[in-house]
Amino acid sequence: MKVHFLGTAAAEGFPNVFCRCQTCRDARKAKGRNIRTRSSVVIDDQWRVDYPPDAYYQALRDDVDMSRVNHLLLTHTHYDHLCAGDLLSRIEGFAHGVEQPLNIYGNDLALQQCRTAFSEESGIQQQFNMQRLIPFEAFWIGQTKITPLLADHDPRETCFLFFIEKDGTHLLYGNDSGWFPPATWDWLEGRRVDMAILDCTVGRNGNPKSRNHMSVETVIEVKKRFQAWHEENTKTKIIATHFSHNCGLLYQDLVDILAPYQIEVAYDGLVKHI
Ligand SMILES: [Zn+2]
Ligand SMILES: [Zn+2]
Ligand SMILES: [Zn+2]
Repeated sequence: MKVHFLGTAAAEGFPNVFCRCQTCRDARKAKGRNIRTRSSVVIDDQWRVDYPPDAYYQALRDDVDMSRVNHLLLTHTHYDHLCAGDLLSRIEGFAHGVEQPLNIYGNDLALQQCRTAFSEESGIQQQFNMQRLIPFEAFWIGQTKITPLLADHDPRETCFLFFIEKDGTHLLYGNDSGWFPPATWDWLEGRRVDMAILDCTVGRNGNPKSRNHMSVETVIEVKKRFQAWHEENTKTKIIATHFSHNCGLLYQDLVDILAPYQIEVAYDGLVKHI
């Protein structure tokens, strides 16, 4: 599996263009890996997790052929994860030669937002195929099995994480979430995890079981828990993402903190293979 990180920031971006805090100022000056757009990945050039407001720019920046991406998995509807109106640029006439339809998978709220955005254009419904996800009920894309797990995030909606099993490798897409809910831990327990992408929004907060979003300490604790139940999980690639400027840490600060635990810090444009 190829995992391409298109965005690695929390909701307001890193730096937040409206913000004058020291971290945002430092990030603007340092540039490079300190410039983070809103979180999303593309898997094997054909599926995408989440569609943030930066999706257009991300495709240009990293030379992503979005006409080939025909499966979109949605974790939840926060504005940094779903910018449904932007998907209209994909319809026939606005675009040419796109693989149809776009298959969209998400909770009922996410699909409703998409329907509302698409309803303004007549005759395009067949260009979008929507599938409502139920927690822990696996679905298939070709030979790939995907299980939506429950996140600890926004209690007002059913926020999902995804466990993706493809070609014998296991990927956990784990943001946005705090320390996983018991039902998700129960489902995960005993499984081999080859790569886990984890929420590290808040930086250091001293809490190994941080709620709503994870912290550095929580990511380290998740790694320990994986290792406790499967010896292969000593080799799990853990990648932290979804950073907020409010954590006060630039890219190199995060690397200095997490490298001793063999935890990698994501940045925009990072490509990993498992
Ligand atoms: Zn988010
Ligand atoms: Zn700031
Ligand atoms: Zn969120």
